[in-house]
Amino acid sequence: MTKMFINGQSVNALSGKVLDVLSPVDGQKFEEIPRGEKADVDLAVNAANKALDSAWGKMTALERGRLLMKLGEKVLEHHAELAALEARDTGKPMTTAKTDITVLARYFEFYGSGADKIHGLVLPFLDGYTVNVLREPLGVTAHIIPWNYPAQMLGRSIAPALAMGNAVVVKPAEDACLTPIRVAELARDVGFPDGAINIVTGLGEEAGAALSEHPGINFISFTGSNEVGVLIQKAAAKNVIKCVLELGGKSPHVVFGDADLDRAVPIITRGIIANTGQTCTAGSRLIVQKSIYPEIMERLAKQFAQIKVGTPDMDLDCGPVVNIAQRDRVAYFLKEAEKSGIEMVAQGVLSPGLPKEGYYVTPTLLGNVPANHRCAQEEIFGPVLAAMSFDTEAEGIALANGTDFGLMAAVWTENGGRQQRVSKAIKAGQVYINAFGAGGGVELPFGGVKRSGHGREKGFLALEEVSTTKTVINYHG
Ligand code: NAD
Repeated sequence: MTKMFINGQSVNALSGKVLDVLSPVDGQKFEEIPRGEKADVDLAVNAANKALDSAWGKMTALERGRLLMKLGEKVLEHHAELAALEARDTGKPMTTAKTDITVLARYFEFYGSGADKIHGLVLPFLDGYTVNVLREPLGVTAHIIPWNYPAQMLGRSIAPALAMGNAVVVKPAEDACLTPIRVAELARDVGFPDGAINIVTGLGEEAGAALSEHPGINFISFTGSNEVGVLIQKAAAKNVIKCVLELGGKSPHVVFGDADLDRAVPIITRGIIANTGQTCTAGSRLIVQKSIYPEIMERLAKQFAQIKVGTPDMDLDCGPVVNIAQRDRVAYFLKEAEKSGIEMVAQGVLSPGLPKEGYYVTPTLLGNVPANHRCAQEEIFGPVLAAMSFDTEAEGIALANGTDFGLMAAVWTENGGRQQRVSKAIKAGQVYINAFGAGGGVELPFGGVKRSGHGREKGFLALEEVSTTKTVINYHG
């Protein structure tokens, strides 16, 4: 049994209820976690509020920064342990899990080193006045995160909030929360005071809803589905607090006839199969100029045919997806494609002998997908790439912008003018030119437009989201 983490203590749910943790590898139970509810959320929010009035709230920015840097070091010391836990909980290949833990440490380093570099402003005003604009923490911040990158999402969400001096309450996903809990324990070991970091495990509609509606919180950072994002925004509205929503995507690659395909093809493949397609920024739409459509599809088909799926320990291109609902979701969309007569251009290979009860799906390249088909419009959250073609630059842009989402995009062309025109015209929070993903970029502001959400995480802009300003107007004659 793994306990959750409230007020510096590893604890069970007050009710004593538990949830089973199933392995994506074979569908078997391998652990239990507390099924936290409203009463547990109350305890965590109270502990966080107390922390702000005691040791944590009294720390200088320098001291907070040092603690975050120490936590980054501690995460790296425990790299192998955390990567193994992350792989076990999510099913991701070991290499992916290792990268995730390195990025987690990077969040603590980046924001730790930034904590004492956040400053306010002195504004010119009337004669006899001095005006200071102070930047201050919000108070207790709530962080509801998904299961696809539990470690990375934890770091991305809480590191800036802690650097700024907020106390955090995290509700990790019920499908994958073991790494966030372990990181909270490591934070205690490096000296984070009680109540600065709290983790309440449980179901979304129980612990998650109770946290998002809690009158004791001052901010919500939510990463997850659009459906739940709407509920979170409503809950934030009731308490008149700010929320950042990092939701889904249907990210396009727009590939022009002059693109460097030797560079593009492996990056496009990686962009949809990484983490078995369970990535909000997955490059799930391929929008190709007609002149090179046959060539790129032939090259991609060769790559897809070589994609191998296996257990985390086999460390192949893809692991299983996280749960049975995800497996069924991918299967459902592939069936929809088949029903509509959409061409399955190529598929990856499942390793022989994988446990039948495991959550394995086959990476698939779909060709000539109609732009309005569900496979081209909805987030599948699996390794399924929907390809389509266009003639003119304007058509390419229209297809790229033709979904409800706007998270990430890529433009592939050697023409400098077109690089600028198209990247400007695409509606997305991040646009890559002749690249995609490029390791995530802790330093780079990230977030969506349209139904992909609002607000920014990563980079220094994230600090603005988790803080407020106070203008102090001093008349001194
Ligand atoms: P989800 O919305 O089902 O769950 C996310 C979190 O919200 C979990 O912790 C869950 O327990 C909680 N939750 C569920 N119902 C809730 C409720 N009623 N009130 C409060 N909390 C609740 O999403 P998921 O299936 O875990 O994750 C997949 C989704 O996350 C995809 O849509 C993906 O695109 C998105 N995502 C976005 C980003 C990004 O940065 N934009 C990153 C990763 C994942």
